[in-house]
Amino acid sequence: MEMNVDVLIAGSGVSGLYCALNLNKNLNVLLISKSKLTDTNTYLAQGGIATARSKDDIPSFIEDTLKAGKYKNKLESVKVLAEESIENIDNIMNIGMNLDKSENKILYTREGAHSINRIVHSKDHTGEIVADTLINEVKKHKNITIYEDTYLCDLININNKCEGGIIFKDGKQINIHSKVVVLATGGIGGLFKNSTNQRIMTGDGIAIALRNNVKLENLQYIQFHPTALYEKNTDSKRFLISEAVRGEGGLLFNSKGERFVNELLPRDVVSKAIYGEIKKFKVPYVNLDISFKDKDYIENRFPSIYNHCFEKGINITKEPIPVSPAQHYFMGGISVDLYSKTSMENLYAVGEISCTGVHGANRLASNSLLEGLVFSRRAAISINNKIDNIKLHKAENIKIFTKCEVENLKKENRKIVIQELKRRSEDLHDELFKY
Ligand SMILES: Cc1cc2nc3c(=O)[nH]c(=O)nc-3n(C[C@H](O)[C@H](O)[C@H](O)COP(=O)(O)OP(=O)(O)OC[C@H]3O[C@@H](n4cnc5c(N)ncnc54)[C@H](O)[C@@H]3O)c2cc1C
Repeated sequence: MEMNVDVLIAGSGVSGLYCALNLNKNLNVLLISKSKLTDTNTYLAQGGIATARSKDDIPSFIEDTLKAGKYKNKLESVKVLAEESIENIDNIMNIGMNLDKSENKILYTREGAHSINRIVHSKDHTGEIVADTLINEVKKHKNITIYEDTYLCDLININNKCEGGIIFKDGKQINIHSKVVVLATGGIGGLFKNSTNQRIMTGDGIAIALRNNVKLENLQYIQFHPTALYEKNTDSKRFLISEAVRGEGGLLFNSKGERFVNELLPRDVVSKAIYGEIKKFKVPYVNLDISFKDKDYIENRFPSIYNHCFEKGINITKEPIPVSPAQHYFMGGISVDLYSKTSMENLYAVGEISCTGVHGANRLASNSLLEGLVFSRRAAISINNKIDNIKLHKAENIKIFTKCEVENLKKENRKIVIQELKRRSEDLHDELFKY
């Protein structure tokens, strides 16, 4: 089957949805997601969204981001991120995003390596609220069609120009002829044995980029979150104990009951310190304690974490939480410019699958939802400006996939992405991955 649209967006996380919303209303947009619309890492985000508090805070926000990223960041991208943060937070509030407030003033919290409180949040389920807000809005737009449970197999590549995508829906292939494709396919956590990510996040965008010779960057930079809930014998995603717990005073203790690290240092430093204690005492976890805070405060500030732990038999108002590090975020990805353009003509990449360079070697807490907003809007602006001048060619010899071939492609994609990650970093060994 053949279908024509102006823009094909693969991904229903913050970046895919916000990109769709910022495209001109006269463009015919198809937005697909591999699973249900809300099966995204966006939906899982707890802590919040970082933003400059005011114009005066921009230099300090930039410096904190660079410092956490070990100065491997792209300065131009970091500047854009900080300078455009306030207007994008305003935009999502204008379309109905509820942020925590006190006496009508936004509440800002603090997370590791931020020098001041500058994270906006909706209790401890910010991602769910962002996703629901954006999904509601997208559904109001008649120019945007949504296909769930639809898999992007490959691009339609005509002489290294992107002219659409091959998708698989309800067991059938549809060739989507589009002037632009936006990859918003999220991270790579599903490739790892231990990850906080949705298991479906298997770096499909990276596999597509590898198949089409699209430039990749910084694949060696993979972030491990220091505090995922430790559970014996679990094969599902690891539940995150947000950095905000430490931001609000939570302390880490080793198995001897001793503190061993400043809890607000960058994630890689805290993760390494925890691995050190785990190795030293030959135990599978360390303890994160917030129980000394007022019970009502904990239940109200961290309802998701409180409820999840309670279901697992841990009352965080009375006892510490067993935690250990898990893969969490991918700083590398498809190399893009300041408008999210990739090395392939008419192909854009946004969100976690892209590498804008804002995170350098290590992401500053709560910068990724912000990156998704800022750079997907920039992608939309660039697309709006140029789409009228793009002409499609007649696509010939498009590969035909059977159902069985799509299943094989998924396996092959996992394999080639893991291979490429290992090729880029000696630290990544077989035991970390789930084959
Ligand atoms: C537990 C957890 C907590 C987090 N907390 C925070 C936080 O507090 N603040 C913060 O800034 N960041 C946080 N992050 C990181 C942040 O949530 C993600 O980086 C961000 O939401 C990624 O958004 P995205 O749009 O790139 O992709 P996602 O939201 O992951 O969505 C990816 C989309 O791509 C689709 N897709 C993938 N492959 C295909 C394919 N082949 N075909 C079709 N569709 C495909 C999926 O179906 C999905 O719709 C957290 C992450 C996790 C896991």
